[in-house]
Amino acid sequence: MRSSEAGMIHIIGAGLAGLAAAVRLTGSGRPIVIHEATAQAGGRCRSYQDQATGMLIDNGTHLLLSGNRAALSFANAVGSAASLHGPSEAEFPFLDLASSEQWTLRFGDGRFPWWVLDKDRRVPQTGLTDYLPLVRLAWAAGDRSIGEVMDCSGPIYQRLLEPFLLAALNIAPREGSAKLAGALIRETLGLGGQACRPLLARDGIGNVFVEPAIAWLRQRGVRIGLEDELHGMQFSGGHVSQLDFAETRIGLEQEDAVILAVPPYVAAKLVLNLRTPTDFRGIVNAHFRVDPPAHLPPMLGVINGLCQWVFTLPGRISVTISDAGHLFNLPREELAQAIWRDVAKIGRLSEILPPWQIVRERRATFAATSEQNALRPGPETAWSNLLLAGDWTATGLPATIESAVRSGYHAADLASHRLRVAA
Ligand SMILES: Cc1cc2nc3c(=O)[nH]c(=O)nc-3n(C[C@H](O)[C@H](O)[C@H](O)COP(=O)(O)OP(=O)(O)OC[C@H]3O[C@@H](n4cnc5c(N)ncnc54)[C@H](O)[C@@H]3O)c2cc1C
Repeated sequence: MRSSEAGMIHIIGAGLAGLAAAVRLTGSGRPIVIHEATAQAGGRCRSYQDQATGMLIDNGTHLLLSGNRAALSFANAVGSAASLHGPSEAEFPFLDLASSEQWTLRFGDGRFPWWVLDKDRRVPQTGLTDYLPLVRLAWAAGDRSIGEVMDCSGPIYQRLLEPFLLAALNIAPREGSAKLAGALIRETLGLGGQACRPLLARDGIGNVFVEPAIAWLRQRGVRIGLEDELHGMQFSGGHVSQLDFAETRIGLEQEDAVILAVPPYVAAKLVLNLRTPTDFRGIVNAHFRVDPPAHLPPMLGVINGLCQWVFTLPGRISVTISDAGHLFNLPREELAQAIWRDVAKIGRLSEILPPWQIVRERRATFAATSEQNALRPGPETAWSNLLLAGDWTATGLPATIESAVRSGYHAADLASHRLRVAA
């Protein structure tokens, strides 16, 4: 067994929560080491070279909004924010595949949702009073399902809230937590176009959030161990006293800190009696190697299709389908063909399937219901030197990059504070 360097901070998991914690702690003067189980950092937010298409693809096309202030501060800190691209104003083109109707929501660039006052910018077939349920949702008391707080029908629901909330909560919105939806509305739609500009990593999400962060951390002396899975922890005297890896055991003192930034089902195995979310929802992403036709926008919301969002990227069209559990048992080629039929119709392209890849993330996020939301623990644990981070901890947001980064920052701030007090 070896002992930790005095006052060392061990971060377990190199997903965005773990990386954000490390970025925040750099400069604390404490030695930092990240232990990541797999051979690649990034966790659920990663890019990789795909054999089937011969392209660099993301496990999921990650969308950020300009109101995601922690995610953007992280990208700024590691110097990669310029690799996020989006329109100069918040614009969301939509297509209804059943009726072929098209419209674009233009939220402008103000700090207030003035667009609801302008009938040319509003969702087609809606009047000002149709937006009142958004206000009710934004300030809903307690936590109930969205279906209990508002009527989940009509144009405002089908053409704005359903696509927006399905993407952000990764659950059929009527089942989703009104509290999580309210937080999203307050931080994005409620703050006007300035907080709703869509931002995409055209050259891979890893090139924004992962590789630059790893390089930045290494330059500052942070050690990052890949294929370094934590198998267990020993506890004594109210603190974590040992970390057990496959080949090493590291003894810890009270002044060492551990930030556990692993998924909830791993944390629940490592920490006795930890309450965590237990139900998850999947996301399907399809990537097609094809030159996108010029008439397709960078991102298109699709109503009444199998596709929900279609993204055009250099040499590729990618499709995202949230809450996609029903598609996980379909044969892959059948699924690729079905998704491509939508894309071919939308893009006026040949129905012949181009080179494709399907990425199915079964446990993409915890199920954003009020019951699961109530199971999210805060960062502090019963052990004085153990903190939790991850998009599934109690950040008040659904499982998103923004939630992961905020959780990492919060755990890091608590660790710094405790180490200062202990010094
Ligand atoms: C397909 C898909 C699409 C998404 N789309 C969006 C989007 O458009 N916008 C958005 O904001 N968010 C999106 N998300 C959510 C976003 O990716 C996550 O919220 C975020 O990446 C979670 O980061 P995390 O660090 O909390 O967890 P994770 O990424 O799960 O990181 C945990 C890390 O811990 C490691 N680990 C596990 N066990 C151990 C162990 N025992 N020892 C050491 N390491 C361990 C894992 O390998 C992993 O690297 C999407 C997610 C998916 C899957």
